[in-house]
Amino acid sequence: MPLRDVFLPRTLDDLWDTLEQRPESMVYAGGTDLFVRLRSGSIAPPSLVCLERLNEIKGVRDEGEFLFIGAATTHGFLLAHPLTVEHFPILAKALAVLASPPVRHMGTIGGNIVNASPAGDTLPPLYVLDAEIEISSRREVRRMPLADFIFGPGEVLLGKGEILTGVRVKKLTNENVHHYEKVGLRKGQACAVASLAALLRLSPSGVVEEARLAWGSVGPTVVTLTEVEHALTGEVLSHDTLKGLIPLVRDNVSPIDDVRASAEYRRIVAGQLLLRLQQYRWGGP
Ligand SMILES: Cc1cc2nc3c(=O)[nH]c(=O)nc-3n(C[C@H](O)[C@H](O)[C@H](O)COP(=O)(O)OP(=O)(O)OC[C@H]3O[C@@H](n4cnc5c(N)ncnc54)[C@H](O)[C@@H]3O)c2cc1C
Repeated sequence: MPLRDVFLPRTLDDLWDTLEQRPESMVYAGGTDLFVRLRSGSIAPPSLVCLERLNEIKGVRDEGEFLFIGAATTHGFLLAHPLTVEHFPILAKALAVLASPPVRHMGTIGGNIVNASPAGDTLPPLYVLDAEIEISSRREVRRMPLADFIFGPGEVLLGKGEILTGVRVKKLTNENVHHYEKVGLRKGQACAVASLAALLRLSPSGVVEEARLAWGSVGPTVVTLTEVEHALTGEVLSHDTLKGLIPLVRDNVSPIDDVRASAEYRRIVAGQLLLRLQQYRWGGP
């Protein structure tokens, strides 16, 4: 790997200066994705700009109805943060199975989002939470739904001189099922072959009053299926109800074959993951 200049701005103003002076540079935060690509030679930027020292885009901020998570917040920090655990157990469940402690110590939520891998573990939970992202440049700050920001594997709406500065998520009120599960090739440090995030509101009698579902690794971006959400709403969360919806899931995901699994296997797993929701039938565990 050839030596290249690395810049370490400590304020956003310094960052904007550096990005203006070095427009061909690439930014990184934890480097857990970017350095893999650098080593493989798939990218060769002339210089790098590290976001790791920018305290302005680190940490979790309580904004009343919302939580704001700085883009350079590491997975480990977020997983240990009481506000994440209290308000977004679904995100905490995904963070707990993302990579390993050393990678969670370096990797950031912003890197996971901008990397835009269909297997990114924070993405399905952030989709069901209707997360909004904040993009900043020297000139402006703009916000948009996460689902509009990512438009393909590794493809995001980020312009020159812009970075992702954070994620804004509305605190949950009535949802009582917060589920995330990924299937990988092994139990630990595995990329998802298929994953499911589910946020449900169940009545005391076990009827689904509201459902948000998102699958990872079974399409070019996270897959949400409103027809499945609608079909589940108003039904008792039973094995039969969930089983009846499996064909709808299998018909509407669009996985690919790759080194980890065949498209057909991913299609089957995407449907089967629904059945796991029956464990919450009476509001448990
Ligand atoms: C061994 C190993 C196991 C892994 N396992 C998993 C796993 O189980 N699940 C999973 O989801 N991921 C996994 N990953 C991938 C990776 O750790 C995560 O995607 C992580 O969140 C990336 O964050 P980062 O800060 O390291 O990103 P970086 O590598 O720093 O950056 C990734 C990309 O995002 C851009 N970027 C980063 N931050 C910003 C920003 N604020 N604004 C604009 N652009 C930005 C960079 O330019 C780059 O293109 C694994 C990686 C490794 C090496």
